Amino acid sequence: PMPPSNSLIWFRKGLRIHDNPALDHAIKHTKHLFPIFILDPHYLAPDLTAFSPGSNRSGLNRIQFMLECLVDLDSSLGKLGSRLLVFNGDPIQVLTRLLKEWDVKKLCFEYGTEPYYQDLDKQVKSFASAAGIDVFSPVSHTLFNPADIIQKNGGRPPMSYQSFIKLAGNPSPPLTTTISSLPPVGNVGDYEMLRVPTIKELGYGDNTQEEFSPFRGGESEALKRLKEALGGKEWVANFEKPKGDPSMFLKPATTVLSPYLKFGCLSSRYFYQCLQDVYKRVKKHTLPPVSLVGQLLWRDFFYTAAFGTSNFDQMKGNRICKQIPWNDKDELLVAWREGRTGYPWIDAIMVQLQKWGWMHHLARHSVACFLTRGDLFIHWEKGRDVFERLLIDSDWAINNGNWMWLSCSSFFYQYNRVYSPISFGKKYDPNGKFIRHFLPVLKATTATFQNLDIVIVLYSSIMIISVTKYQLSDMPKEYIYEPWTAPLTVQTKANCIIGKDYPKPVVDHNIASKECKKKMGEAYALNRANNGLVGEEDLKGLR
Ligand code: FAD
Repeated sequence: PMPPSNSLIWFRKGLRIHDNPALDHAIKHTKHLFPIFILDPHYLAPDLTAFSPGSNRSGLNRIQFMLECLVDLDSSLGKLGSRLLVFNGDPIQVLTRLLKEWDVKKLCFEYGTEPYYQDLDKQVKSFASAAGIDVFSPVSHTLFNPADIIQKNGGRPPMSYQSFIKLAGNPSPPLTTTISSLPPVGNVGDYEMLRVPTIKELGYGDNTQEEFSPFRGGESEALKRLKEALGGKEWVANFEKPKGDPSMFLKPATTVLSPYLKFGCLSSRYFYQCLQDVYKRVKKHTLPPVSLVGQLLWRDFFYTAAFGTSNFDQMKGNRICKQIPWNDKDELLVAWREGRTGYPWIDAIMVQLQKWGWMHHLARHSVACFLTRGDLFIHWEKGRDVFERLLIDSDWAINNGNWMWLSCSSFFYQYNRVYSPISFGKKYDPNGKFIRHFLPVLKATTATFQNLDIVIVLYSSIMIISVTKYQLSDMPKEYIYEPWTAPLTVQTKANCIIGKDYPKPVVDHNIASKECKKKMGEAYALNRANNGLVGEEDLKGLR
C-alpha cells in the first residue's frame, strides 16, 4: 500500500467538527493534515464607502460572528492536536501555492452550490487534477444534494414546496464517527501563520462600538443552543412557524440557529436527526411546512431552486422571476434602511436588523413587503442588498428566494394580501414593547432622561433589564403604532414631536398599498400576455 501522505482541508463554510465529511475523509491515511481558512477579500475587503461599517459585502456583526466561529474552530482543532492556519488573500493564489509547497496529495473541502463557489471550485479542481492531487468535495451544507433533486424532477428545480417534499424523501443521516485526534500539522515552512484576527486588526475603522449582536458565533455555541431548543420537547413538538410572535425579542419565538446553519457551525442533517429523535418521544407533533423539520426543508427548497436557476439573484434574465417596473426612489430606500419610515413597527424591525443582525421571520415579512409591493414599490434587489449586508445569517439562496417570495416576484403570487405596518404588529404586541425597545425615541421623555440597558445573554434567552432614571410619560400605547395621530399635548408630554423627534410617515399606507396593488395587477397582466418575456421597454410603459 501507498505510504500516508499530506492532506489539506480547506474550511469555507462547514466551520465544525461534527458531521463533517470533508474533515472525516481528510484524516484517512494521512501523515500531515493542514487545516486552513482563507480570509477572502471578495467577502472581507474593507469598504469605507458602504452605508454601514464593514467589508464590501458584510456588516461588522456578521464579520464578528464569523471570527468567533473561527476562534471556536481553532480551539476545537487544538483539543484534537491540530490548529487552524489562517491566511489572507485571493483563495486560488493562496491555495495553489500551499498545495505545491506542502506537497499535498489530497485536498478536501465542502461542496459550494453558490455561483461564487462554483466558479472558484472549477478553477481549484482543474489545478488539482493537473497537479495529480485528489479532490474530495462532498455536499454537506444541506440535507440533500440539490443536483439530485433537480435531476429527479427532469432537470428543473421543483417550484412548490409540496413537490419538493415529494421528491426529496429522507436525507441521509449525519456521520456518526467521533474524531478523537487529528494527524499533526506538518512543517508549514516560512509562513508566518496568522492566528484568527480581531475585527480591529482587519481594518474596518474604529466605529465598532455602534454594532451590537447578542448572538455569539461558533460550533460550541451552536450545539449549546440546539440542546437548549431541543430540551423543550413540547415546544419542538408543537412548533408552528406562522403562530410565532415576531415581537418577542427577549426570548425569540424561533431557534435562532440560522446564523449557525449559514456558517455550517451546525450540520443541518444533525439538526434534522435530533428533531426526529424528539418526535419519537412525543405522542404527536406538527408537520411540514410549519414544523421545525419543515423549516429545514424550506432551507433546502430554496437551495435547490437557487442551484437550478440562472441569475437567481436578479430580476432580469431570471426565468422564475416576474418582471415588475419597480422604482428606484433612493430617499425612500434610505428611510427604510435607516429605520425612518415613520411607521414604528417597520422602523423598530430595521433597527433590530442593524443592531442584532437577526429578526423573526414574520418581522422580515413585514419590512420586505413594505419596501416592495406593499408600500414603497422599491426593487426587491435593493432590499436584498441591505439584508445581505446586515443579517448575521445572510445566505445567498435563502435571502434571494425569500425576497422574490415577499415581493410576489416568484413562488408566491397573492399580491392583494399586504401586511399592514400598523395592525400586524399590534396583534402580537399591543403595548409596543418591541417598538419601545428598539426605538427609544418613542419610549421616553425629557432631555435628562437616561436609559441604561443591561443585557445578559443566557444561551438562547436574552434578558434585558432596563434601568430608567427619570421616567416621565411614554408614548401611550394607543398611539405607539401610529404616533402621528397622537394629539400634540400627548407628543409634548412624551417629549417626542412627530416630524421633529420622530419622522412623519413617508407614505400613507392606505393610499400607497392601493397604488401598489394596481401596479402589481398591471405588471402581472403584462407578464401573462408576454408569457414572462417582458423587456425593459415594456416595463417603461408601466412606470
Ligand atoms: P427557525 O424557525 O428556528 O428555523 C430553523 C431553520 O430553518 C433556520 O435557521 C433556517 O435555516 C431554516 N429556515 C427557517 N425559515 C426559513 C425560510 N423561510 N426559508 C429558508 N430557510 C428557512 N434566512 C436565512 O437563513 N438567511 C437569510 O439570508 C434569510 N433572508 C430572508 C429574507 C427575507 C425577506 C425573509 C422573509 C426571510 C429570510 N430568511 C433568511 C428566512 C427566515 O426568516 C430565517 O431563516 C429565520 O427567521 C431564521 O430564524 P431561526 O433560525 O430562528 O428560524
